Amino acid sequence: MANAEIGVIGGSGFYSFLEDVSEIRVETPYGPPSDSLYLGELAGRSVAFLPRHGRSHTVPPHKINYRANLWALRSVGVRQVLGPCAVGGLRTEYGPGTLLVPDQLVDRTKSRAQTFFDGEPLPDGSVPNVVHTTFADPYCPLGRAAAMGAARGRGWEPVDGGTMVVVEGPRFSTRAESLFHAAMGWSVVGMTGHPEAVLARELGLCYTSMALVTDLDAGAETGEGVSHTEVLRVFGENVGRLREVLFDAVAALPPTESRDCLCTHAHDGWDLGIELP
Ligand SMILES: [Zn+2]
Repeated sequence: MANAEIGVIGGSGFYSFLEDVSEIRVETPYGPPSDSLYLGELAGRSVAFLPRHGRSHTVPPHKINYRANLWALRSVGVRQVLGPCAVGGLRTEYGPGTLLVPDQLVDRTKSRAQTFFDGEPLPDGSVPNVVHTTFADPYCPLGRAAAMGAARGRGWEPVDGGTMVVVEGPRFSTRAESLFHAAMGWSVVGMTGHPEAVLARELGLCYTSMALVTDLDAGAETGEGVSHTEVLRVFGENVGRLREVLFDAVAALPPTESRDCLCTHAHDGWDLGIELP
């Protein structure tokens, strides 16, 4: 199986122009991931790119096979994952173009498979045990430091920390929901950050979110509410800049073997019952 040490889950805008990208299809016990993996070299690191919504953006947030996506990345050797995503700002000071590197997460999704430890046998006959994964700090501190440094290096002062609330979607929030999220002190709202982060942790992967604010959420703005056109426009304006930061973050991630962060100790003392890929 082809080898990559770093995974990037994001749109095709992040890898389509790289030279010598090879496409591989990966099957998992959970079915197919969102798309092929695209493997390439970046700053001397081997990277696997996975379009979260499929290459033609046809998979909505609540239908993404998150388990297959993370399993596929790990099965080609990935141990550190960067997850850029588009979010809505819940405070007026987090306007469009803000880059936030969250340190906390709130799950408000409803329908998603969010664990590998569900007692269902794998094709090889092994059965996952009941495992309670440590998730107090959902993001990798080493990855967060790399992302923050990369953004600053490109003159983009990021917001250091904050809470991303993840909603089911695919609709945007009502004003009441948005005001509730803001009143709780949360920072941004997205649709894909969960269960991506927890599934990464369950596989012992380092996971770092990089959240680009594309709009103010309904409770924080005064107009008609979030429009898809506006989201696309702001994302388009910032995708080049985000790509530069992302690539610098890849280069700044610690050597995979030497890292000793909390992510690598999530299952200390547990018998998983299954072999991770
Ligand atoms: Zn880590």
